[in-house]
Amino acid sequence: MNVQDDAGFATRSIHAGESADPSTGSHAPIYQTATFAFPSAEEKERVVDAAMAWEPASFFYTRTGNPTTDALERKLASLEGAESAVVAASGMAAVANTLFSLLKVGDHCVASEDVFIITRFLLDDVLARRGIEVTRVDVTDVDRVRASLRDNTQAVFIESLSNPHMKFADIPTLAEVVRERRIPLVVDNTFISPYHLRPLEHGADLVLHSATKYLSGHGDTVAGVVAGDKARIDAIRYELDALGSAPSPFNSWLVMRGVRTLPLRMSAHARNAYALAEYLAARDEVEVVHYVGLPGHPQHELAATLMTSGFGGMFSMKLRGGYDAMNTFVNSIKLGAIAVSLGDLRTLVYPMPKRENLIRVSVGCEDADDLIADFDQALSRVKVRATA
Ligand code: PLP
Repeated sequence: MNVQDDAGFATRSIHAGESADPSTGSHAPIYQTATFAFPSAEEKERVVDAAMAWEPASFFYTRTGNPTTDALERKLASLEGAESAVVAASGMAAVANTLFSLLKVGDHCVASEDVFIITRFLLDDVLARRGIEVTRVDVTDVDRVRASLRDNTQAVFIESLSNPHMKFADIPTLAEVVRERRIPLVVDNTFISPYHLRPLEHGADLVLHSATKYLSGHGDTVAGVVAGDKARIDAIRYELDALGSAPSPFNSWLVMRGVRTLPLRMSAHARNAYALAEYLAARDEVEVVHYVGLPGHPQHELAATLMTSGFGGMFSMKLRGGYDAMNTFVNSIKLGAIAVSLGDLRTLVYPMPKRENLIRVSVGCEDADDLIADFDQALSRVKVRATA
């Protein structure tokens, strides 16, 4: 079904990019194939040439293009308000190939200080070994970003919500700063999702996600996506193809299934995160809760102007009592699994002893009352141990 780009977000989450399989009527076709057969040598020549020029719906080999992945790309482009999107084998494949497409030997990149650890390895080591210099700064300090730009700066890479301190970047102001210098602004929006924030609407040039997280939503696959204008996305496709970073059709199919319920899940994540964060912030055992939805968060006002329909499902917190209190608390939580990653239906908690004993919480879609009761009993253990 074709939906108009001005249809609502939920309508596009369900319908955009998809259509029933013309030969069977299946609503959820999956083209789990490596190759595509041609009726003639002439048709093969036409399609391969078209595919290599990144013309839509030209399929000859799944590393280069696949109808299941193509449908997902159209859906995600629609949700991001982008001309085009490309899906990759993982979030890191999306991050790496985006930066490889923008940067070459001798170039410079400005990036967030607080970034996902593997992105940090990419920025500080993998790119450095390829002759690309990276300056990492606190991107909530726009003056520092401006002062870090050089004549050879060819990309500014930020995470919209930083990990683990949950600082919220001022995308419109950063976009203005880099636009003057014609430098592309790339936003990793994994922690927020397009339901709450669409960075392209605020001046970013490219937005990317680990689709492993909120987009797939069920913690059962690994994938990535980048969206933006077609010329930039085609340049990223070229890198992805050459570096063998394409997703499997099955993983694209799983992400597609997840995206259809993105608005339903995100509104539950945001509602629960707000309730849990508010409850925790009022507790004596808790030193701090970093949640952009709470009025005390330093960028709350800015987030309220840019984010739609809530503030997402991610917060971090710190207990009074240090390492032992953190471990006792986390070990006592029953509804939240101790695990990396985020954006799963189930609540995930991740203690960070090397990051000030912060505990990152990816709030799931369970009932808020159950989550509060569970975190409450875990907090009471901290107290018991502390006074024992
Ligand atoms: N970007 C962010 C903000 C992440 O948190 C992650 C993974 O946790 C990635 C990128 C990498 O995604 P993936 O694990 O799908 O490669």
